[in-house]
Amino acid sequence: MAAKEKYPEPTYLEFGFGELEHDVIKRELCCYCGNCIAFCPKIDKEGNRPELIDYDPLCGLCYAYCPRTMLDMPRMAKKIFGRERREDEPLGIYRKAASARAGGAGAGAQDGGVATALLIKALESGVIDCAVVTDRDDQWRGIPKVATTAEEIAASAGTKYTITPSVTGVQMAMDQGFKKIGFVGTPCQIQALRKVQLLEEPYAFGQDKIALLVGLFCMENFEYERLFPNLVQKTFGLSPEKVDKFEIQKGMFRVLSGDKVKEIPIDETDDYVWKGCGPCFDFAAELADVSVGSVGSKVGWSTVLARTDMGTQVYEEALKAGAIEEKAASEKGLALAGRLAKSKEERFNTKTAELLGRGVPVNIRR
Ligand SMILES: Cc1cc2nc3c(=O)[nH]c(=O)nc-3n(C[C@H](O)[C@H](O)[C@H](O)COP(=O)(O)OP(=O)(O)OC[C@H]3O[C@@H](n4cnc5c(N)ncnc54)[C@H](O)[C@@H]3O)c2cc1C
Repeated sequence: MAAKEKYPEPTYLEFGFGELEHDVIKRELCCYCGNCIAFCPKIDKEGNRPELIDYDPLCGLCYAYCPRTMLDMPRMAKKIFGRERREDEPLGIYRKAASARAGGAGAGAQDGGVATALLIKALESGVIDCAVVTDRDDQWRGIPKVATTAEEIAASAGTKYTITPSVTGVQMAMDQGFKKIGFVGTPCQIQALRKVQLLEEPYAFGQDKIALLVGLFCMENFEYERLFPNLVQKTFGLSPEKVDKFEIQKGMFRVLSGDKVKEIPIDETDDYVWKGCGPCFDFAAELADVSVGSVGSKVGWSTVLARTDMGTQVYEEALKAGAIEEKAASEKGLALAGRLAKSKEERFNTKTAELLGRGVPVNIRR
């Protein structure tokens, strides 16, 4: 038998946790979305990284599901939207763009409260039977949560600017028997769950249970262990439990505490950014059913991009029910969001060229 026949080309099954550790985690490419931890019972959290807790070197599920390996955006877009993204679509493919806000202005919400309102509407209309959201403790550590009531979803509103393995909440939801799971999260988390949905072979479990993906715009996220001790506590002199809100407005990273506002230019926050955010090009959560962000809309409003049938249906139902109100997205606002998306892509190109120069290939097809 020829050597080639005896040793066939490697498949997913021959890339196990060892390769994930070597190719992604040790190279600081891991975005800590929590996908591998969620779907493999042999992987758990260890500090801020996934860790193998049982011996199984050759399964390969973690490698296949990781959004930092073999992420083929054109082919994924084709499966989800029926076509590839064009060059002139920096925010990805969408059917409708709008500025919107929740009725009652969404108390506790980050911007227009639209992410919360959409999940509540989807729960009420039976599109989803639970929503996986990112809550927080009194120290502002993100906590994945399975919410089953409108009140629980609303209680988790607001942005936590620290990396959280939110996708682990999807496994919690599956363990609890939910079959139509709604999820809200950052672009990398949405990429991860789309991989789960689209990879039919050889791992065919879980995909039918993910019913709705609400994506958030995201330029980058921060590492709790660096942001809080160094910036919030040392520079701003605030203890975490005194912080009411974090926000990024007009190029400033702001921390709101009572009547105090502490801020620094966003350009000066690089030391606190999660390293694995570097090799990411996706600003607008392009693979989500519906994406929501602040850029492009007035304060107190959210920019919404309804992308798929499901995302459009949930958004239109929320409008019809009066759960949200909308106005046309401004061209200027969308252009600004588009410029940010392009700058994130340029950062990705620079970072991947630098990694390639060090002999580290990034297996992402844009
Ligand atoms: C890390 C991060 C960076 C962002 N950067 C930008 C940006 O550069 N430009 C921009 O326009 N918008 C950005 N956003 C989105 C913005 O902050 C709002 O989330 C968005 O506008 C929706 O507002 P809302 O009032 O509709 O959401 P809300 O109704 O307040 O709901 C927000 C939802 O976000 C979820 N969430 C909060 N923190 C996290 C987290 N760390 N991981 C996963 N899910 C979380 C919560 O579960 C909640 O359901 C970012 C969001 C995050 C999480």
